[in-house]
Amino acid sequence: MFESLSERLGGVFDRLTKAGALSEEDVKTAMREVRTALLEADVSLPVTRDFVKAVTRKATGANVTKSVTPGQQVVKIVHDELIEMLSGDNPNPGELKVDSPPAPILMVGLQGGGKTTTTAKLAKRLKDRNGKRVLMASLDTNRPAAMEQLEILGRQIGVDTLPIIPGQDAVAIAKRAKQQAELGGYDVYMLDTAGRLSIDEELMTQVERVRDVATPRETLLVVDGLTGQDAVTTAENFDSRIGISGVVLTRMDGDGRGGAALSMRAVTGKPIKFVGLGEKMDALDEFHPQRVAGRILG
Ligand code: GDP
Repeated sequence: MFESLSERLGGVFDRLTKAGALSEEDVKTAMREVRTALLEADVSLPVTRDFVKAVTRKATGANVTKSVTPGQQVVKIVHDELIEMLSGDNPNPGELKVDSPPAPILMVGLQGGGKTTTTAKLAKRLKDRNGKRVLMASLDTNRPAAMEQLEILGRQIGVDTLPIIPGQDAVAIAKRAKQQAELGGYDVYMLDTAGRLSIDEELMTQVERVRDVATPRETLLVVDGLTGQDAVTTAENFDSRIGISGVVLTRMDGDGRGGAALSMRAVTGKPIKFVGLGEKMDALDEFHPQRVAGRILG
């Protein structure tokens, strides 16, 4: 998912580490290349600027340029700044708050972003890895096919879904899910909200009302990682209106340039908790900033 960025940076750092003694000018030249590489990977301009500024400040200190292995030190500084950019102060992005049963998880996002698929993937993960009893409910009353899709996925992964009652609105379904989760002794219930093709007032009002009924422990935004900066803008919008606790970036198995992943934390302040890596039910990974930084720098 970061192949081209990794290739570009690999070239820059190869030259740096072979250079021996480094002048401030060498560092500046390298940072110009880092800047281009980040922008080409669709990282936002302000995030790129801040990143390059932070690295340059640390890398041009006398203790670095005059050290025995200046190139390697610069690479380490870039590595550490990448982790900082990806994770901020959240060292465990894959963790979900699912204590105090039944814990509600609200899934939000635009239509086609992968919300229903991700709801089922997460339910399966909570069941298989954490031994949780999970109930899933679709609130997409406009699209009966989406409700059926969740039911089909539920059967496939062995997770219960709330029976569909035609004609109920999203808030009524959320209330019924809560009741059923309490009565049925579930640990977690997941609400797969309706999506729209773009953000509109009706959607936001509906999600807000559902949020107020459910008081979720986690509100996860599911967004298509291939859409780059748009994914980040969508996250900003959902966060300011609904308040999200984290992001799931889908389609990271595709040939996206990775900019969404790199800008998300810095722009929204919210962590990426998981990445979707395919259509299959186990194609979901925790987002590990350390591993991602390692992969980018090769
Ligand atoms: P929703 O409208 O947001 O609920 O989106 P869906 O869950 O129905 O997903 C839309 C399409 O994207 C489906 O064909 C999914 O199989 C596919 N999809 C979801 N997540 C991923 C992912 O991480 N990688 C890939 N390649 N496809 C995905």
